[in-house]
Amino acid sequence: MSHIISQTSIIITMSLQNTFYNTLEFAQQMDDTDSLHDFRDQFYFPYLHGRSAIYFTGNSLGLQPKSTQDAILTELEDWANFGVEGHFHARNPWYSYHEILSDSASKIVGALPSEVVMMNQLTVNLHLLMISFYRPTTARYKIICEAKAFPSDQYALESQISLHGFNPADAIIEIHPRDGEYCIRHEDIYEAIALHQNELALVMIGGVNYYTGQVFDMKTITQKAHQAGAYAGFDLAHAAGNIELHLHDWEVDFACWCSYKYLNSGPGSVAGAFVHSTHHQKNLPRLAGWWGHDKQTRFKMEKGFSPIPTAEGWQLSNAPIFSMAAHKASLQLFDQAGMKQLIAKSKLLKAYTEFIIQAVNAQLGPVKGTLQMITPLTDDAGDYFGSGCQVSIVAHGYGKKLFEDLLAHAVIADWREPNVIRIAPVPLYNSFKDIYEFGQILLHIMK
Ligand SMILES: *Cc1c(COP(=O)(O)O)cnc(C)c1O
Repeated sequence: MSHIISQTSIIITMSLQNTFYNTLEFAQQMDDTDSLHDFRDQFYFPYLHGRSAIYFTGNSLGLQPKSTQDAILTELEDWANFGVEGHFHARNPWYSYHEILSDSASKIVGALPSEVVMMNQLTVNLHLLMISFYRPTTARYKIICEAKAFPSDQYALESQISLHGFNPADAIIEIHPRDGEYCIRHEDIYEAIALHQNELALVMIGGVNYYTGQVFDMKTITQKAHQAGAYAGFDLAHAAGNIELHLHDWEVDFACWCSYKYLNSGPGSVAGAFVHSTHHQKNLPRLAGWWGHDKQTRFKMEKGFSPIPTAEGWQLSNAPIFSMAAHKASLQLFDQAGMKQLIAKSKLLKAYTEFIIQAVNAQLGPVKGTLQMITPLTDDAGDYFGSGCQVSIVAHGYGKKLFEDLLAHAVIADWREPNVIRIAPVPLYNSFKDIYEFGQILLHIMK
């Protein structure tokens, strides 16, 4: 049997998980035939305990591309050489810097370039977009969200509701996983939308749940929200650069994401915002700033806000050039690799990760307790929609010591109390060998 995997046979291989082998030779063979394998060399890996780390936390802070330093240095040099004149005369004029990011960013989220803008931070963008898309009335004021949403999102929703004089306990409808389950059933979301349809103002969900890695069917959720007369918005912190997105075609109203997780643009780097083109001309209520004002008349510095009729019209301030430079360097790598290829590799990496975890379980035997994957599995034909590259694992019978032992073996994973390990093998810089070695280390530690 041939183990050579070409791009075209990826799908076939995925449905034949038994073509995977838990051997170093096999993992290396997979890496050899992976057309994206060399992208790994374009990143800095942390060095731990005398070796390059096995880095699985690209879902928390992506690694630094080697090209980032040059991109930021360019702006430092231009600042030194031009001073204020750099706004128009820098190699990448700062005045319009955000515009050079929109093409690449739009490909990542499946949008028109005019529908995206890089600005501010994620939670700030969520607030700004909710000011436009959460306009509660006494009849319609409810928001449907997922239970245990990322805390920042919970605080944002609660404070927006309070700001409008409503009671968060009454206005927020949380969709929980069913008893004994970890992921949320889509039918439960749809049922809630139908149940609250007359009071519903907004459905605001994380496109990929940060804890379980579950992907939500944003297309259908948006359709159902619209049918109920509500808007649909998504926090794409764990989706952008991780899964296939078609925000424009899905008719999503708004979305926001950060650039420091899967998008490798550095801690706290500039965030993204999406506003569907159908809303651009409506002059929606918003919190305004001069960078959202019509470019032709911005420097007249006169009264009367006239928004740019694109997502740029939601900008407040002039652009944070250094973090945008980092983002520009990272987006270049995404352009070179292509989202389609990245996602194809991601699916294969995820399937191999599942295979390796199952192999470790089999070798540990039932007595030692098991590693339970709570992320929807590749073969999961149930109610779940799928997942990105993240695999969340409940380590039954093990505590934080397991995570510490992994770190002592140079595996950087993520720990959530009481016993969940999250790993995210990302297609840009993780390898099949990383996953094989992770399995060997797990086995060694847990035995
Ligand atoms: C990472 C993350 C955040 C972080 O918000 P910042 O404003 O970037 O600090 C918010 N929401 C979700 C869902 C996240 O995953």
